[in-house]
Amino acid sequence: MHMDYYCSAKFTDLMIHVQGRLLYNCCKAYPERVNLDWLEANPGRLFHTDTMLEDRRLMLDNKSCVSCHHGCYKYEEQRLTSTRQKYINDTKISDPHAPIRHLDISLSTDCNLTCMYCSPEWSSSWQKDIEKNGDYLLDGVPVKQNDNWSNLWAKMKQKSRGIESRFFAQILREIKLSTGLQSVSILGGEPLLNNQLDQMLDYVHGKKITITTGLGVSDARLRKVLQKTKGMNVTFQISGESTGELFELIRHGVTWKNFKNRINMIEQNGHKIRFISTISNLSVMGFTEFYNTYHEKHEIQINHLTGTSWMMPHVLDDRSKNNFIDSIKNKNNLPEFNNITRMIDKKPDDKDRINTGDYLKQFSSRRSIDLAFLPVHFLEWCGLRS
Ligand code: SF4
Ligand code: SF4
Repeated sequence: MHMDYYCSAKFTDLMIHVQGRLLYNCCKAYPERVNLDWLEANPGRLFHTDTMLEDRRLMLDNKSCVSCHHGCYKYEEQRLTSTRQKYINDTKISDPHAPIRHLDISLSTDCNLTCMYCSPEWSSSWQKDIEKNGDYLLDGVPVKQNDNWSNLWAKMKQKSRGIESRFFAQILREIKLSTGLQSVSILGGEPLLNNQLDQMLDYVHGKKITITTGLGVSDARLRKVLQKTKGMNVTFQISGESTGELFELIRHGVTWKNFKNRINMIEQNGHKIRFISTISNLSVMGFTEFYNTYHEKHEIQINHLTGTSWMMPHVLDDRSKNNFIDSIKNKNNLPEFNNITRMIDKKPDDKDRINTGDYLKQFSSRRSIDLAFLPVHFLEWCGLRS
């Protein structure tokens, strides 16, 4: 199969996972583990490790590299879409030493929430749930478990705070040296919980900053961050896609009332808000109301769910799908809704239907959540009510 292997993100983007000491060039690519001694001896090369330079040279020679095979090429070989499509019209860069422009930085996996589609890889609360109550089993197979990454990160967190802060200090130095850096996106877990956020904000002052949050923090903690970021070019990218009890189920760990109050606090501080709405079967039942609540004031971006087949938007009973279609009748073909209409337009298979019920049962019983607020036709359809 003939392929053009070039991708501009390889020459502009880096994601760092601080806790794992991992560098991803870009966020979809297979990571490399940073060598702290090497970096200390080679200031200014965080974005120009030997592996990155070699990958870029391969790309310029129109050859495949392992990290992008993992992130994109393997999907294209199967004639599927890949992330690099979104960079297709970018100006070509032909210098492997080109300066970094966009940095994503995941400070740690510390998070107070267990959003239903998330996993122990990204949230310490998910790790704790599984340590305490065991794996989630669907069809007898573990689907949420503390896998190698999450076990490794949990261990590293206990044993190597010193190494983590050494790496963090190096990252700050590298940011200072990166004169071409335009934007920085700070991720978690929950970055608002992280004690390093304050220092990071000092170093990225003047850049375009995005903080991605589920708002699973106390009002006092949020207030402190808002004081710090007052007047800075910060966008809060907030996860949310439904309202009321459904919101509290999907985004378990934060109440709808507290979420709304915290949105008000951010609005009053003058920051831009962008919602990221991850569309699952459950959120289809609440998205229209969420949209009605916030679309006039804020941008709402649709995020596609991957990897949890039992939560895909089409794994829903016909009546819930029809209710969604009825709820958008006066929305004049808005792209967000057309997108979701396409997502639900597929017949669910029986295995996913049963797994939806089983997963909801395990998730809700571990947290003592009463599911009676969900529509009866949905509960009957997935076997949670006869
Ligand atoms: S090809 Fe894919 S994985 Fe590689 S840099 Fe581009 S978007 Fe990232
Ligand atoms: S807030 Fe983010 S990291 Fe935490 S559980 Fe939700 S999706 Fe995962």
